[in-house]
Amino acid sequence: IVQWAPFIQQFKKRRYPWIQLAGHQGNFQAGEQGSVLKKYDKGEQVAISKLMKDSLRPYVPEYKGEIEKNGERYIQLQDLLSDFESPCVMDVKMGTRTYLEEELTKAMQKPTLRKDMYKKMLEVDPTAPTREEHAQGAITKPRYMQWRDEMSSSVELGFRIEGIMKSNEESEKNFKTTKSRESIIRKLQNFIDYDETVMKMYLSRLKALRLTQETSPFFKSHEIIGSSLLFVHDKSGQACVWMIDFGKTVPLSENMTVDHRSKWKEGNHEDGYLCGIDNLISLFEKMCDA
Ligand code: ATP
Ligand code: MG
Ligand code: MG
Repeated sequence: IVQWAPFIQQFKKRRYPWIQLAGHQGNFQAGEQGSVLKKYDKGEQVAISKLMKDSLRPYVPEYKGEIEKNGERYIQLQDLLSDFESPCVMDVKMGTRTYLEEELTKAMQKPTLRKDMYKKMLEVDPTAPTREEHAQGAITKPRYMQWRDEMSSSVELGFRIEGIMKSNEESEKNFKTTKSRESIIRKLQNFIDYDETVMKMYLSRLKALRLTQETSPFFKSHEIIGSSLLFVHDKSGQACVWMIDFGKTVPLSENMTVDHRSKWKEGNHEDGYLCGIDNLISLFEKMCDA
């Protein structure tokens, strides 16, 4: 479910409709000046607190603590949009897999049949369900989770576009089947409006991010699932990328590490995050050379 402007944000003397590209309606609220409130999740709170002490800190929204409002708990985060004027925003979900190993294990142990997931599958690709699944009018959750990653660019490229909003324009969120490099490049070029300066700024930020990730203690000790890169730019020529959404970022057991590039086998917790960054960087390089 995508919600466009859940509230009007105020910063300094400006008021602007805040843009939410993913997640459920009601998960976000206006916070103090220059911040937003996100519904509390223990795992996310722990991850973002640790990130404040990691070399990745400049690449994530600043964490400003936990607060309660109208009986609900929230984490307060830096609003990444607040320095931009009518920004263009893109959410790119990272990783070759968008469910936790733990979720898959659970779903496998209790593979209940889901009619809702069968319906969602039908909507995107009526030929996807097997004959048996058609007969049941339902599919299992692990089947749905794996299919969804395969039919987008996630499995092959390690990322997928979740949503794009260009300043004052209609938002686009139907990228479920945007899979090939060519079609992704077209979406990226349209998002950036062929602005070379912006393209180069994104590229250099992505390269700096990758270098930092490759040496970050946090990065190698966590399975990072369903996390996104948030791309933001505006007409003034500012452009930046941050890591967001750590609801499914889980610490590995003490003596375990991941390199985020190795192929996933159940039990190794690899998520393909850096494969996604490598591919994104190579697409941006292609665009810059074109
Ligand atoms: P889901 O898990 O379904 O992706 P979620 O509830 O965990 O959703 P996020 O993915 O963290 O929510 O954020 C949803 C959207 O809100 C993002 O796509 C982005 O548009 C916006 N957003 C999130 N955090 C920030 C932030 N710190 N500053 C600006 N925008 C943000
Ligand atoms: Mg998200
Ligand atoms: Mg999330």
